[in-house]
Amino acid sequence: MARIRNIWRIDPFSLRVRLTVGIAAVSALGLSSVAIWTIWQMQQILIGSHKRYVEEIAQRLPRDAEIYSEMFSVATGIQKAIDNLANSQTFLWVISPDGINRAKSVNLNAMDTTAIALLSLRQVPASPQVFAINHRYFVMCARTLRVNGKSWGQLFIAQDISDEQTMFLAVVQSLGVTSLLILMAITVAIALYIQRSLQPLMQINQLAAKVSAADLGQAKLQCDRAPTEVRELARTYNMMLERLAAAWEQQEQFVSNVSHELRTPLTIVYGYLQSVLRRETNLTTTQRDALETAASEADRTIRLLQDLLDLARADSGHLHFHIEAVPLNALVAEVAGMAQQYSNREIAIEANDEIIVLADRHRLKQVLLNLIDNAVKYSDFSLPITLKLDQLEQARIQVCDRGVGIPLQQQARIFERFYRVDESRATSGYGLGLSIVKTLVDGMGGCVTVASRLGEGSVFTITLPIAV
Ligand code: ADP
Repeated sequence: MARIRNIWRIDPFSLRVRLTVGIAAVSALGLSSVAIWTIWQMQQILIGSHKRYVEEIAQRLPRDAEIYSEMFSVATGIQKAIDNLANSQTFLWVISPDGINRAKSVNLNAMDTTAIALLSLRQVPASPQVFAINHRYFVMCARTLRVNGKSWGQLFIAQDISDEQTMFLAVVQSLGVTSLLILMAITVAIALYIQRSLQPLMQINQLAAKVSAADLGQAKLQCDRAPTEVRELARTYNMMLERLAAAWEQQEQFVSNVSHELRTPLTIVYGYLQSVLRRETNLTTTQRDALETAASEADRTIRLLQDLLDLARADSGHLHFHIEAVPLNALVAEVAGMAQQYSNREIAIEANDEIIVLADRHRLKQVLLNLIDNAVKYSDFSLPITLKLDQLEQARIQVCDRGVGIPLQQQARIFERFYRVDESRATSGYGLGLSIVKTLVDGMGGCVTVASRLGEGSVFTITLPIAV
């Protein structure tokens, strides 16, 4: 449903809409030019023949009148010539310079509204033109009538073309409607065709959106049936992914090597500092303070290097887990005892049953120590820290504190690398602890979540498979 909505959503800035509108506009221009040209041609053919006919009568009537006037009077000759050339569609009449109607064709005798309107006309051009009178159409002209070299007034000729004009207007109307329908059909066809042609680009977009650092090496765009340009784009994109994968691997290797190379000498330095602090009794307070600071900084850096090493190994798939059945209650008690010693904080344990989990003993200790370390760091000395154990379908371990808590909008991000909620809370950490926790718990087939309220405390919950 979401996909269908996406296809038919109209984004005015999309390539699909722009191409469709552009091609439809060009088609409309072409189609309307052809329609206008056709209409003009039709009109020329239709009206042209009538104009020629009217012109012919205008030239013939004076000649006929002259011939008749040899036998009859001029006035009778004119009337006879008019009667001879008039028919049901052709109206002829003569108006003298003083405005008197001297002769007219029989079809004007009825004196209906059209006849009256025609006879009252005075301003008519000499070359035939189309006039609309009383919803009827006429090709008309008026010329001075000269018989035997003498002017007898104005000769008016009107050719009724209403039927042809009505037919012509109907043709124009249906041509307009047909053009509009054709244009609509063309637009829909173009839109569908463009939609189809852009499909591979959308596929590339969807695939690219799914690529993550973890699967850079395997990610490949397949567009075998796409147009050449899109295939080229996909090929270039694949090559870029390969280069990125290589660079990513190099960087992981570098972090892993540096962490490893630095950790060993630092551990030796830390060991020496500890032994000097333990054995030397004649150190001054300043010297002891300096050595203690150096030892604590060395310890912090060793832990950072260990975290980086673990993450680099996890990324490269070299972090191995020795999964076995582990008695959880005993392990948690041991970890709580260790944490209690180094933090000088009371850590309570709430547990009912004996629980055996499937986990890597050392990694699980590392996870719990990390979480307890955070609970100690982010809660007041006087507030309790509790470890709760229970078991449903899976074993559940909760590390609860009543400390500062974590804002809701940031709870989803705290498991990201180097993410720290608020720099003003600055502690000795680097924002790697929780990402290590998540990596290790995921690696053991479990999952870790957080529930927290600002100012009320946090509960980190780990679930792990139980040994059956
Ligand atoms: P750090 O080593 O900086 O503590 P972590 O990855 O362990 O990094 O934690 C990330 C962030 O999550 C910390 O900056 C801290 O603000 C917040 N956080 C973690 N645990 C707790 C906790 N128990 N109570 C409050 N905030 C916590």
